[in-house]
Amino acid sequence: MNTIVMGLPGAGKGTQAALIVERYKIPHISTGDMFRQAVKEGTELGKKAKEYMEQGLLVPDEVTIGIVKERLSKPDTARGFLLDGFPRTTRQAKALDDTLVELGKKLDAVIHIEVPLELLVTRLTGRRICKECGATYHITFNPPKKEGICDRCGGELYQRADDKEETVAKRLQVNLEQTTPLLHYYEEKGILHNIDGKKEIEEVFQMVETVLRGVHQ
Ligand SMILES: [Zn+2]
Repeated sequence: MNTIVMGLPGAGKGTQAALIVERYKIPHISTGDMFRQAVKEGTELGKKAKEYMEQGLLVPDEVTIGIVKERLSKPDTARGFLLDGFPRTTRQAKALDDTLVELGKKLDAVIHIEVPLELLVTRLTGRRICKECGATYHITFNPPKKEGICDRCGGELYQRADDKEETVAKRLQVNLEQTTPLLHYYEEKGILHNIDGKKEIEEVFQMVETVLRGVHQ
């Protein structure tokens, strides 16, 4: 099962990724983990990536793709893999296709967890944190008994700057612009599967499983 999981912040991509790798016993390959591992192992590409990261620069595609290739060459990917956070651009997607051909592999499915923007905003802006004990709430999905007050300690609840509507909307817009061409790319290849991410976690996973069962030989 060679697959990619995609979804905007708040869509539940991480949750579904965790369920998929558990169900299919395949490695969850996120960009961050892959970089950290290459740096730790001190590979040539890892060293190069480190130089860029230390200068606060974006790691160039050649290096990133090289690291992806190293990772996908490891024996634990023989039964499959789940890529998360890569590719980010169609250029990277094309390079990934070439790499997979070189490795004698192919992508089975791209799982796109789709959630309307308004619901993502609701999910992402609703979080409230207790100033005293750090307990977290959600004004819609896990509200405190008394508005603005922590159930556990009576402390005052606040909203993090990152969770404010303006910041959230901007983050979603940037992500949307970045992923739209990528979704088209995979749609044209006929391997894109849009999953309704509005439902409960278990229900969403059932739909994911149905798709994966269909493409898995
Ligand atoms: Zn509290």
